[in-house]
Amino acid sequence: MDVLDAAGHPVGRGYYNPRPGIVCRLLAGPGEPVDGALIRRRLAAALDYRRVAGLVPDEHGAYRLCWSEADGLPGLVVDRYGSVTVMQCLTLGMARLADPVTEALAARFQGQRIYRLDDPGAARVEGFEPRRGWAPAGEDAAMTVPVTEGDCVLTVHVGAGHKTGLYLDQRENHRLVAGYAAGRRMLDAFAYTGAFACHALRAGAREALLIESSADAVGGARENLAANGVAAQAAIREANAFDELRTLAAGHERFGLVVLDPPPFTRRKDAVDAAARGYKEINLRGLRLLEPGGILATFSCSHHVTPEMFEGVCRAAAGDAGVTVRVLATLGQSRDHPVLLTVPETRYLTGLLLQRV
Ligand code: SAH
Repeated sequence: MDVLDAAGHPVGRGYYNPRPGIVCRLLAGPGEPVDGALIRRRLAAALDYRRVAGLVPDEHGAYRLCWSEADGLPGLVVDRYGSVTVMQCLTLGMARLADPVTEALAARFQGQRIYRLDDPGAARVEGFEPRRGWAPAGEDAAMTVPVTEGDCVLTVHVGAGHKTGLYLDQRENHRLVAGYAAGRRMLDAFAYTGAFACHALRAGAREALLIESSADAVGGARENLAANGVAAQAAIREANAFDELRTLAAGHERFGLVVLDPPPFTRRKDAVDAAARGYKEINLRGLRLLEPGGILATFSCSHHVTPEMFEGVCRAAAGDAGVTVRVLATLGQSRDHPVLLTVPETRYLTGLLLQRV
């Protein structure tokens, strides 16, 4: 559909779907054809931005090539894991453009394999049949790819696990936080496959305790710790982090570095108050576990929890914990998940790097 502003001037062209809350996503400028050439242009620009920003690793690394609206291709996520490309359609409009997207990717990265991994939740909301499998279809063998991320190697089981395989949105934070790890005892709460712990241990952390509730993720964490040669300094508890943080505090355990990277506590605007209570609780507990001088890296990936709100929650938690903390850095999603100032929905990950004074 063509989109006009209130005065009748053309704004651009988008695809329309009356089913979800967002009925139109802008894809092209006024009169700009929506075709394979547009997709190739957008992907080339996405790659160019990341190259210039130094975000494209060598052929064994992983990065996000396309982040939906932020790269002018609403509803499309493309992540590169070494020689495997994972593409994900999040909207009906993009699912209908999947063939030209696959063609554009195949032309751009020769020798790679493409896996399509649509999000079933988004597919339900948008009303399309989510696809999962290699493109072109035919072979459906599972594949494991080890990718390097800085000093670490992380294993990706293509088509399994969370997101498209790894939490690439934390890629830059993994390394930033590891810079504070040397000599410290580290707690990685909501660890997934242990990326923060692997980086911290490789950077000289004394030992790490990982807490993660999903058995599959715990299996992945064991694999990653071993692959990085740091399994001997790590312990994993397959448990609910809310309970485990309480148990650790009751046992007067202390850590020099705590990471809190929970899943989104809300996806809805009307549930932010409940989410804020959850964030306050884990941050209160995390702060109580910090030794003086200790570092807390704490995150929220709930889009509706703004950086200001999150800071307020952490301030209240510090007050209740009776500790003074200084702000070492405000954190966000890695720059290969760019944020458009004019599309606030493109920002969802916020965080703080705090030090107990
Ligand atoms: N820090 C990870 C990403 C964490 S995503 C990285 O950088 O790779 C959040 C993780 O929290 C998921 O793996 C999810 O399985 C786990 N999780 C969700 N609820 C939990 C709970 N109550 N207790 C422990 N882990 C939980």
